[in-house]
Amino acid sequence: MTITDTHAHLYSEAFEEDREEMINRALDAGVSRFFIPAIDSEYIDAMYDLERKFPEQIFLMAGLHPTHVKENFREELAIVARQLEERKFYAVGETGIDLYWDKSSLSIQQEAFQYQIQLAKKYKLPVVIHCRDAFDEVFEVLEREKGEDLSGIFHCFTGTYEQAQQALSYNLKLGIGGVVTFKNGKIDKFLDQIPLEEIVLETDAPYLAPVPYRGKRNESSYLIEVLNKVAEIYGITPKEISDRTTQNSREIFGI
Ligand SMILES: [Zn+2]
Repeated sequence: MTITDTHAHLYSEAFEEDREEMINRALDAGVSRFFIPAIDSEYIDAMYDLERKFPEQIFLMAGLHPTHVKENFREELAIVARQLEERKFYAVGETGIDLYWDKSSLSIQQEAFQYQIQLAKKYKLPVVIHCRDAFDEVFEVLEREKGEDLSGIFHCFTGTYEQAQQALSYNLKLGIGGVVTFKNGKIDKFLDQIPLEEIVLETDAPYLAPVPYRGKRNESSYLIEVLNKVAEIYGITPKEISDRTTQNSREIFGI
């Protein structure tokens, strides 16, 4: 069984003490492909280190996280652009809009988001989208950028059925993570109406640990809990879910 974690910050300081053991626990559990979203330039070296240690399993993205869009965002975006020019990445992200932490930076978040979508198109890469308390604002940018050359993942999807349909209409897949195991997570109520071709699995480690680890540090081996819950919702085996969602991840990332 090959399980793919399409979104994990495995370079995070949360794993400083046991990073390799944590990754080996995931590999033992069958989680053997990890797509690694960027945050900002501070983390680039840690990301490259991780890739050097696990070159067959680790696939990097380049991008600027919406909660890290600050006054210096143009310099940060220039670094992202340079990275993309210099070497292979598998996606641009994570990018998007987060109004939970900071509403005052909306306009620069939108600018940074739109620019990163354009970078993704330039390099024919998917875009990995973070959206928190900002569906309307994210959709506004996607409306401007929609088209055949737009593809990617709506990461940690937590919206309604209608918002899911809208995300799919932009040629985006839904990233399903720990929230699907939460009692108040809501997406479990309609997920089985979303075709399996349209979803991928993710942890967002070290954040958003699934039940029974909710509130603790998340890690990629816990993706099994998400996998089992999604299998239960669709009424098919975990193996069928892991095969299909891994296939979906290959189609999106090209590996
Ligand atoms: Zn993330």
